[in-house]
Amino acid sequence: AEDPRHVPNRAVIDPAAITQNTRALTGLLEEQTALMAVVKADGYGHGMLTAARAALEGGATWLGVAHPASALALARADLDAHILTWLYEPHTAEIVLPEVLSSGIDVSVGSPEMIALVSDAARQADRRARVHLKIDTGMGRGGVLPWQIRELGAAMVEDDFLQVVAAWTHLTSADDPADPATDQQVELFDSACAALEEEVGPVPLQHIANSAALLTRPDLHRDLVRPGIALYGYPPVATDVPLRPAMTLSSRLAMVKEVPEGHSIGYGRIHTTAQRTRVGLVPLGYADGLHRAGSDRCEVLVRTESGDRRAAQIGRISMDQIVIDLGPDSDARAGDEVFVFGDAGGAPNGPAATTADDWARAAGTIPYEILTSVSGRVTREVL
Ligand code: PLP
Repeated sequence: AEDPRHVPNRAVIDPAAITQNTRALTGLLEEQTALMAVVKADGYGHGMLTAARAALEGGATWLGVAHPASALALARADLDAHILTWLYEPHTAEIVLPEVLSSGIDVSVGSPEMIALVSDAARQADRRARVHLKIDTGMGRGGVLPWQIRELGAAMVEDDFLQVVAAWTHLTSADDPADPATDQQVELFDSACAALEEEVGPVPLQHIANSAALLTRPDLHRDLVRPGIALYGYPPVATDVPLRPAMTLSSRLAMVKEVPEGHSIGYGRIHTTAQRTRVGLVPLGYADGLHRAGSDRCEVLVRTESGDRRAAQIGRISMDQIVIDLGPDSDARAGDEVFVFGDAGGAPNGPAATTADDWARAAGTIPYEILTSVSGRVTREVL
């Protein structure tokens, strides 16, 4: 790894933002509804343990991750939380699941094969597995199909090593509250749950809601909600709930120079200066996580001696660097700070920094991808 003292690029993580966001979200819940902080993908790029601790501080009582290996890392950190993991395949499950179960982690099962894997692992661990049955109500990824429920339920209830503690599903379209797909999914889920309970008896927990459903559909909160992106300050739907970005990506100018009107910038010459101007070189590119598809379409915030200014990113984003247009009269100098997105902590009346949402729009993607793309060579610094 590169010595962070030798590279200016930083993803500064503010755990207080995650804590406050979590608190704002738990404030929307009835008392009996718990919150599972989704901290997969290294806490959406913020650092899994940093995100987990911050969310627990804000009232989360569950942690959710895709990979069993992540769940084990959480369990080893000795956090006071229930943990759920939901994505594994036979070759690795055979190795990891017995330890997962011994560590008291809940596992999701979403196919007959996964049920068999968990049952075998529970036998090995000599421990009853707490399983969350995932129901495919339209996502078409993991999850048992509604018409498989009775047969699988009957088999699970016969298995002394399995205890069905939850039924759950994942919504395809909750970020569009007008989309009828959500209600269709919920209808399928409710009838699948009824069938399941007829086979296995009462199932203590139901969970459905991601960030979007948490914010827009109180009727879907059920026993547990599973927000991810909103914890990190990027609500996927319009909301009055105060949420703020927890990651700030910054760098420093490597060079400033004046170029004439008509000067081409970067690969393919997609940008030519419209006037004499000063351009700044920022040593951060697509290998650090900027999406090349967003080239020439977004802005950064530059902090110079005279204050903060927005500057357009111009030309193609390169692997290691971008160029920004500082304007003809800028006093920016090499070494000045550049905020690519997040909270620059500038003066209240100064220009706001751009956000991961702005970069997502520029690149035709979603903030989830922007946040999780910040690469391993960018140093995470926790405030
Ligand atoms: N639940 C599951 C199963 C997920 O995969 C995710 C993330 O995509 C979430 C919840 C959280 O979703 P969001 O980040 O949209 O809140």
